[in-house]
Amino acid sequence: MSNSLPIEHDFSLRLFNTFGVEASARAYLAVTSVGMLKSVREDPTLAAMPRLVLGGGSNILLTQDFPGLALHMQNKGVAIVGEDADAIHVRAAAGENWHAFVQWTLAQGLGGLENLSLIPGSVGAAPIQNIGAYGVEIKDRFHSLTMFDFETGETATLDRATCAFGYRDSIFKHALRDRAVVLDVTFALPKKWEANVRYADVMQELSGRGIDCPSARQISDAVIAIRTRKLPDPSVIGNAGSFFKNPVVTPAQRDALLARYPQLVNYPQPDGSVKLAAGWLIDQCGWKGKTAGAAGVYEKQALVLVNRGGASGREIVQLAAAIRDDVDKRFGVTLEPEPVFL
Ligand SMILES: Cc1cc2nc3c(=O)[nH]c(=O)nc-3n(C[C@H](O)[C@H](O)[C@H](O)COP(=O)(O)OP(=O)(O)OC[C@H]3O[C@@H](n4cnc5c(N)ncnc54)[C@H](O)[C@@H]3O)c2cc1C
Repeated sequence: MSNSLPIEHDFSLRLFNTFGVEASARAYLAVTSVGMLKSVREDPTLAAMPRLVLGGGSNILLTQDFPGLALHMQNKGVAIVGEDADAIHVRAAAGENWHAFVQWTLAQGLGGLENLSLIPGSVGAAPIQNIGAYGVEIKDRFHSLTMFDFETGETATLDRATCAFGYRDSIFKHALRDRAVVLDVTFALPKKWEANVRYADVMQELSGRGIDCPSARQISDAVIAIRTRKLPDPSVIGNAGSFFKNPVVTPAQRDALLARYPQLVNYPQPDGSVKLAAGWLIDQCGWKGKTAGAAGVYEKQALVLVNRGGASGREIVQLAAAIRDDVDKRFGVTLEPEPVFL
């Protein structure tokens, strides 16, 4: 095994996953440069191990000890790197904290990412599931990213089309899975910024503050206030945010459900499909606030599963399976988990 890399063995990941689940990695490396990734690839023992690229651990569920090498992205740096007619280009290293980066852009007077304030995790993970909140996804502000490819040993720049962003989806969950390590991400922040306050929650929060024409800073503050009220703080109660994606159905399926459940919460999409609110479906099955062993469903939001203290990943998986079965039986809709199970 490489002598030059500061590899740790049987390393506890409890403090590196926001569910706070106890599990260890057989080997662990804090990655601060692409050179370290190249060294891993050139080391026969390390190269043969299963790999887990780790950011803030806010979208993973550890169901067992990880039998391989955890590569914890810790590279740093943010900078304005260029511009074109429409946008200022801003780059951040994968190991930067997402929310701190959003706040930095706002401090530079650059709007565009404010709706995505307070999403936990790292910059490098943001493209993996095309993070989104309050009507904005990172694909809307994305310019390009640099990745290290474990298959070729080279770095490559990917544009937006190549990343194939979708709802909580990208090429990194498919063709580039287990192969790409995002090194940095460049965003195109609009020179002609316009507020996006289409979401009722954001509109209400702003009008409650007497704000009609909000600045990007004011939208960020409103989003922070809403999220702080609605979502559990992972440093207090372990969770990974929304545990299930909002299911996408056809208008005909939605209409059939609406005939039986007139209160059904649904959002027509630009492509003609319809998103259902997974939290509403789970709530209707009576799961909100329930506890199963040391796992549970958050009292204020049925979409969030929590670790009430000492829960194992398997306990959380079992609870999720019971919820999924209930929703399936009652509504004929299959829920898909959002976090990555390991
Ligand atoms: C309270 C709470 C609220 C949340 N709200 C939202 C929300 O509103 N919208 C939303 O979209 N998500 C939300 N999330 C989920 C989570 O914050 C995002 O998915 C975030 O992008 C995960 O970042 P991370 O660094 O913690 O990734 P991790 O959990 O460390 O990793 C997630 C996945 O990305 C991979 N990965 C991580 N870094 C890299 C890299 N550099 N290169 C390649 N692969 C990598 C990992 O291997 C893993 O498969 C929430 C989570 C919590 C706990």
